[in-house]
Amino acid sequence: MSDSLQTPPKTSWHGLSEEETLKNLDSRSEGLSEAQAAERLARFGPNRLPPPKRASALRRFFEHFRNVLIYVLLAAAVVTALLGHWIDFAVILAVVVVNALIGFVQEGKAEKALESISKMLSVDAMVWRDGSRRQIPAEELVPGDVVFLQSGDKVPADLRLLSIKDLHVDEAMLTGESLPVGKATAQIAETATVGDRFNMAFSGTMITAGQGTGVVVATGQATELGRISEMLTDVQTLTTPLLRKIGEFAKILSIGIILLAAGTFAFGFLARDYSLSEMFLAAVGLVVAAIPEGLPAIITITLAIGVQRMAQRKSIIRRLPAVETLGAVTVICSDKTGTLTRSEMTTQAVVTATNQFEISGVGYDPHGVLSLGGEEVNLNEHPSLEEIGRAALLCNDSAVIQKDAQWLVEGDPTEGALVVMARKMGLDPALENKRWPRDDVIPFESQHRFMATLHHDHAGHGFIYLKGAPERVLQMCTRQRSKGEDMPLNRAYWLEQMEALAARGMRVLAVASRPFSDEVRQLKVDEVSTGMSLLGLLGIIDPPRPEAIEAVRQCRNAGIRVKMITGDHIITAAAIAQQMGIGDGKRAIAGAELEGMDAEALRAVVRDVDVFARAAPEHKLRLVEALQANGEVTAMTGDGVNDAPALKRSNVGVAMGIKGTEVSKEAAEMVLLDDNFASIAHAVEEGRTVYDNIKKAILFILPTNGAEALIILVAIALGRTLPITPVQILWINMITAVTLALALAFEPAESNVMSRPPRPPQEPILGGFLLWRISYVSLILVIGTFGLFLWERAQGMDIERARTVAVNTLVFFEVFYLINSRYLHDSVVNREGLFGNRYVLWAIGVVIVFQLLFTYAGPMQVLFGTAAIDLFTWGLIILVAFSVFVLVELEKALYRAFSKKSTKSTDAA
Ligand code: ATP
Repeated sequence: MSDSLQTPPKTSWHGLSEEETLKNLDSRSEGLSEAQAAERLARFGPNRLPPPKRASALRRFFEHFRNVLIYVLLAAAVVTALLGHWIDFAVILAVVVVNALIGFVQEGKAEKALESISKMLSVDAMVWRDGSRRQIPAEELVPGDVVFLQSGDKVPADLRLLSIKDLHVDEAMLTGESLPVGKATAQIAETATVGDRFNMAFSGTMITAGQGTGVVVATGQATELGRISEMLTDVQTLTTPLLRKIGEFAKILSIGIILLAAGTFAFGFLARDYSLSEMFLAAVGLVVAAIPEGLPAIITITLAIGVQRMAQRKSIIRRLPAVETLGAVTVICSDKTGTLTRSEMTTQAVVTATNQFEISGVGYDPHGVLSLGGEEVNLNEHPSLEEIGRAALLCNDSAVIQKDAQWLVEGDPTEGALVVMARKMGLDPALENKRWPRDDVIPFESQHRFMATLHHDHAGHGFIYLKGAPERVLQMCTRQRSKGEDMPLNRAYWLEQMEALAARGMRVLAVASRPFSDEVRQLKVDEVSTGMSLLGLLGIIDPPRPEAIEAVRQCRNAGIRVKMITGDHIITAAAIAQQMGIGDGKRAIAGAELEGMDAEALRAVVRDVDVFARAAPEHKLRLVEALQANGEVTAMTGDGVNDAPALKRSNVGVAMGIKGTEVSKEAAEMVLLDDNFASIAHAVEEGRTVYDNIKKAILFILPTNGAEALIILVAIALGRTLPITPVQILWINMITAVTLALALAFEPAESNVMSRPPRPPQEPILGGFLLWRISYVSLILVIGTFGLFLWERAQGMDIERARTVAVNTLVFFEVFYLINSRYLHDSVVNREGLFGNRYVLWAIGVVIVFQLLFTYAGPMQVLFGTAAIDLFTWGLIILVAFSVFVLVELEKALYRAFSKKSTKSTDAA
């Protein structure tokens, strides 16, 4: 049958009734068939917005000219031309263009890498297709599809709502209205504006509460969002606090250097008898020498590589600054279920008013038996079990399916465990659901911790099933079911049983029921809040993830405290925390206890308690605030809608890729593709590595600039010819230094990244140690380069050759110092240190080829004023250059010896 919807009708959908809408879209409340959907997808195209318009390539290229340094260089080029130095003019111009080109290409690469990573977070939609619920990529939605919505979802297309239950949507992005709007389904006036179309849900808005279904009326660019998408420029910017700081530093540096150059110019011209043109070139040389042209590009690349490495280890960075912050994290607050534990739940215990049963079986495989005191039980002898099984099965939105010989849950794992239990009790889900149809539901929400459903039997008698956290359910019960009869509630018995299960590390649920009106087919919260009859308790195990236990240990070594924040009972939480090595195994606090505390008390609590149970999302927010008030840098995990404020507030918000809601992902800096705690530890490790590598790049590049600037200053002060010319400096800075420094971006983690304490958040990047190392190395480079230059001159070498020697000495200094720079403090004199990063070896190989060309190729000799040198001279160059390697390794050894001594003496103190 061919599909009759040929063009997407343009209608004021909110003005139509639900039936008319469906009719117009040639759809039904059971949705489309797969064939229809495929046809429509081909006709209307995928449900996505075209990527935001970027500035044209040419424009982005010219952006790289907007930089003080380039202005200086361009001015220099003009003056060199006026002075008739045509070769210098051409070289400067070429360098400016090459520099912009490198920046442009590298930035493009970094952007592409980040873009491909953000694509890994695709959004899914739950739809009716071929009469059953399917989860499909939101991109495949077509007009006419019937979509399910629930709290936490991002609305995947424009929908005309068909049914709603307490549905609230945050439409701020479309309407600017900051409060969530309640939705309805009734037809409204055609003239209603977007903000008043209560029976519509618009693409890109967020469901903050409730559930609903709607039919897709517009996809992709035809949506309201598509219409305004040009206004939204949510492009990932390639900047971070560190880059900004370095940018500011560079600006101040540039101004300082220009002033210095002007001073030198005046001094040389007035006091030292240089000619105007000579002095001008020297001043330009000083400017280009002192400014680290390649540094910003290298930092950006290092960040982008870090983000890619994290993605390979299942953490997607949504906001670039998080990479830096991760390296400084001091506390990780983690959810328990699914993050620290496997979320493979199995019901292992059932407690009735009279007995405590155990259930065998593994995972979600519905094979297993119930036993009592070690003996298998005959289910017929225990009718109370059947009622418990039925309640657990019907008050449940999940299913267990077999796929490729594996048993999997569709929906909530806790509920999956209950379905499996019911099947082990001999109940058939399809049959039960048919016999006792559901009329209404109060869905489970973490805040109220229960779920209730309303059913009726074949005779039309209504009844309620309720399941939830036992203390909560107990509050609602006045009676208990014992041997098929209702009796007064023995609260003490149930509390004792509940604690016994929780002490085994089990998640405990209670089930209850009561008869209900035969006529009313709607359920309200008040109606379940009292008069219920308790059927039994269920104990569910959820084993810890072994890799999470290991990760907790690693974090502890790395000076990072792990805190568990869970919705589970305090005893369960304490038992699991103990298995995982979190906290001291004793102290745990329930969320409710936090409520009475003022900020001061809370700050004291977060200092020594690591396990927080029965915690609600608002507790998470308070905990983050208290931790931050104590000066901690906090990473916090979350998955629900209500976790968003805590995620936003924490220094690194971590959302769950699998079970997390879209709302939580939007609020987070980072998303875990596998929901696994171990991935957070990996991300911290990568974050620390990135920061190290940026430090290494800075430590590597700045001494070259320092040395070059000093060489020129000293030469002018002494009134000597410059040992290196401005164009040669440009060659060193833009070609060799960048090539070499890039290799450091690929540096793997140092062996101690996860065994040292976190970096103090306020630590300046150019701290005392870095400044010292930069000065020390600059000095070595100046003495070596200038020394060899003067010596060669004294031997009667001509100026071209002596300059070639100077440049090569400086470059080989860089080559050796690059190897030093692989480790900040550790010795590199071992196999791993010398050969462990193949990018370093490659970069050195490339630079050697560059230097041979620079020295011997005819056109290069003309451009850079170089001349061929002999083998003996090369020997000298290498010998002198090698000195930096030895001297820096020596300095590191002294540093290590000293810092070891000082830690020993503080230990002793
Ligand atoms: P964590 O914070 O460790 O990830 P969680 O967020 O999964 O745990 P909740 O889902 O808030 O914790 O569960 C809290 C309590 O609510 C559980 O201990 C359980 O007793 C009860 N509960 C969990 N799921 C359901 C459900 N689907 N229906 C009824 N009650 C539930």
